[in-house]
Amino acid sequence: MNDNDSTWTCTDSAELYGIDRWGGGYFSISPRGEIEVISSSPHGEYRVSLREIVQGLEARGLEMPIMLRLENLIEQRIGEFYSAFNKAIESAGYRNCYQGVFPIKVNQQGNVVQAVSRYGDPYHHGLEAGSKAELLIAMATLTNSSSLIICNGYKDAEFIDLGLQARKLGLKCIFVIETLKEVPIILERSAHWGVDPLLGIRMKLSTRVDGQWAGDSGDRSLFGLTSTQITEVVEQLKTARKLSCLQLLHFHLGSQIPNIRNIRDGVREACCYFVNIAAQGADLKYLDLGGGLGIDYDGMGSGDHSVNYTLDEYCFDVVETIQEHLDPYDVPHPTIITESGRAVVAPMSVLLFNILDVVTFEPRLSNTSGDHHCEPIRALCDARRKLDAKRLQEFYNDSFYYRDQVHEAFLRGQIGLQERALGENCFLSILQEIASLVPQVKYPSAELKHLGDYLADIYYGNFSVFKSLPDAWAIGQIFPVMPIHRLDEKPDRRAVIADLTCDCDGKLDRFVGMQGHTNTLPLHSLKEDEEYYIGVFLVGAYQETLGDFHNLFGDTNVASVRVDAEGRLEFVHEIKGDSVAEVLGYVDHQPRELYRRFHDFAERSVRESRISLKERQQMLELYRKSMDGYTYFKG
Ligand code: PLP
Repeated sequence: MNDNDSTWTCTDSAELYGIDRWGGGYFSISPRGEIEVISSSPHGEYRVSLREIVQGLEARGLEMPIMLRLENLIEQRIGEFYSAFNKAIESAGYRNCYQGVFPIKVNQQGNVVQAVSRYGDPYHHGLEAGSKAELLIAMATLTNSSSLIICNGYKDAEFIDLGLQARKLGLKCIFVIETLKEVPIILERSAHWGVDPLLGIRMKLSTRVDGQWAGDSGDRSLFGLTSTQITEVVEQLKTARKLSCLQLLHFHLGSQIPNIRNIRDGVREACCYFVNIAAQGADLKYLDLGGGLGIDYDGMGSGDHSVNYTLDEYCFDVVETIQEHLDPYDVPHPTIITESGRAVVAPMSVLLFNILDVVTFEPRLSNTSGDHHCEPIRALCDARRKLDAKRLQEFYNDSFYYRDQVHEAFLRGQIGLQERALGENCFLSILQEIASLVPQVKYPSAELKHLGDYLADIYYGNFSVFKSLPDAWAIGQIFPVMPIHRLDEKPDRRAVIADLTCDCDGKLDRFVGMQGHTNTLPLHSLKEDEEYYIGVFLVGAYQETLGDFHNLFGDTNVASVRVDAEGRLEFVHEIKGDSVAEVLGYVDHQPRELYRRFHDFAERSVRESRISLKERQQMLELYRKSMDGYTYFKG
């Protein structure tokens, strides 16, 4: 790694932040030191700077934070799926095709579902609905009768009635049976409407997967029918003379499966069910592998935040495994369905925010000997003068010991605030000095190795982890985070990033590093006259859907951009984030009522001569303006 400030290049930044490892070919660094999005199409490859996009958005009145959606990446990802499956199908001589569906739950935003449907239309890409609300979206969005609507989740009569209307309209709407209770309802409602249902069964596979959702896989997984229950469903359908309606078998092993061997195992087990159920007379046409195809969030090639396979390898392994396990029984090859959500939409979204402030842990010291102070402060000052590079661990231990004694003296009232500050600054100065010497130590202890983290700056970002990156908080998900500009300059600070929520969990402190995960991120010192922008990448799946209103920070501004066939940047869609009034309304505060109460309070204060009439007017104006404003920090 280049350690020289003056010869630092964008290539050094690319290596430092790992953008070529997690960027999937969609992001890189331009010679100007800005992150650029790479959009490939049959017309060519176009590159657009994120900094330029930010300028365009700010000129259109959109303030930070902004959830930026890059529409070209949705189109590209869907195209890549079909091309990878088609390649695998052709090379293996598989005698059927691939047809995917997008699970609405992964990103329910209208603009996203519509974009997925629009770009998926040429491939007959469908939608997966796990609730009545999602089915309503699917029914009004898909018009291509070759695309599938797959209905997962528990279904009541109303859900089933809706799906049957979709059937009547000519849509291929398939009910995946999740519980035995659904069978009689489906049979009764389809008789009522005079339409044969398309049915699938969700299997509970024994196959277990690695990764974040390992505990939810295997025999004790929450969803799916056991072999006994599947036998019962088949019998019920036979008795009702509706076994021909059973056309699909489905399984879902979990999301973000890091290990391709788990996927192969699952497909193999599913194929055994497929052969057996086909042998009982069901006219099975589809094998639905659910989701699970992972994203390489940290570029490590293995582990919970990564994958040990490529899209091509996934497709090839799936096709080959199905063929291998059906051919010996002469079972016709089914249409392969996947319900990939994360892998389709994660790359399209980047959360952008600006840095508002920085706290550093640099000591502020005058040259004091400490002679006139209490013993622990004298000891710290002494240690600072005599620091010996050969005894770093000893000085480290002593510094903490005396620093704790300073705190103790403060608690007992033996020293005041200024003396405590002096002691702490002395302590920080020793630690900074030790940290600068650690690289010279051949075998530093873990404590010394992590001293840099202890001294890291805190960069305060204009965003909420809970609203925009809930998985970072809830399941420790690592997302790639980096500045979107100044990448031709060597970052001179290391930091954690705190959000606006004043919650101690509202922070980002696990990052993609060069050799693994790190607790601090290299960043640049702020400049007086320039905003510093950070991007959090690969956040298009689940984050917008699961985010919550902690501290009443609402939805961020959202912008969709696309690069047209001539390489021109189009700002296609802007959605203003929640106003304060909207967020208050979500939690049952009526903004009008709040205003009225505040108004009465101000009026009373005028009567009681606590404020003037002019002050009353100013207060009411400010109150009203704040209600209409953005919930985030305004520049
Ligand atoms: N299908 C079902 C039934 C799911 O529960 C999920 C989400 O967990 C998905 C598909 C999407 O999975 P992924 O985002 O991993 O592709």
